Amino acid sequence: MNQGHVICDYEGTSYRARFWEGRGREYEDLVERIALRRLLPPRGRRLLEVGAGFGRLAELYAGYDQVVLLDYAKSGLLEAQERLGRSDRFLYVAADLHHLPLAPGACDTVVTVRVLHHLVNVQSALRGIAAVLRPGGAYVLEYANKRNLKAILRYLSGRQSWSPFVTTPYEFAELNFDFHPSWMTHELHQAGFTVDAGLAVSHFRHPLFKRLASPRALAAVDRLMQRVGAVWKLSPSVFLRGHTPGSGAVVTEDLFCCPACGKGSLTARGDTLVCAGCGALWAVTDGIYDFKTPVAAQ
Ligand SMILES: [Zn+2]
Repeated sequence: MNQGHVICDYEGTSYRARFWEGRGREYEDLVERIALRRLLPPRGRRLLEVGAGFGRLAELYAGYDQVVLLDYAKSGLLEAQERLGRSDRFLYVAADLHHLPLAPGACDTVVTVRVLHHLVNVQSALRGIAAVLRPGGAYVLEYANKRNLKAILRYLSGRQSWSPFVTTPYEFAELNFDFHPSWMTHELHQAGFTVDAGLAVSHFRHPLFKRLASPRALAAVDRLMQRVGAVWKLSPSVFLRGHTPGSGAVVTEDLFCCPACGKGSLTARGDTLVCAGCGALWAVTDGIYDFKTPVAAQ
């Protein structure tokens, strides 16, 4: 399943408590919501969030009939389910993002926030995302920007050895990459996307700013800077919106598609889904569709 891809796995880490709650990240949360609201097509049949974690951003998807929250870590999805409940509107899917278990054209919109910066093979992920979007579907993404103002100042003053102007990704910690804006735009084009909007986000992430003003005040100023800042993209976080070519409706017959063979449609058999193509069986446990490893044939 995961051959050729190293995965940054948040399983069992309580990402919510460890990273978000009481950690002085209210500002980041606020500005990311502002950016996402601005870029998301407000309505649609189906939205997929890849790397949804505990569903932090789920209430922004109110205009969608169905929301698929996908993550590699089941622990985060269980937290999301506790908060959002079990229904046909929210589907919880554990899967490797390089093998999305969704049918081609099944989504109007795909979102990835704080996800791409963990990927060694961004191009493979982008192509997979393009495949599950309908023609003319939207992809809203966030990435960590290596050419940010702090990195530029540190580099120019000799306090940082790596150049923020070199376009190749910079791995600042294991499985944590910062990307150059030109590189990311090129990758999106390679995967077939047309980029039609961008926002520079999180200008005031530095602790110095957080000591000077409240998260809400900083977020209000960041809001004013997101559009104009996108011209230079000197912020540590950048949001983009891309579209797949053409126009067309979402495919509604099949939602899931077998990630093992990449083509078989799946039908329910008890607590499992069985692939018509390769016979793989996938478990549905505790309200979570588990596409990480097939269960043994019975
Ligand atoms: Zn299959």
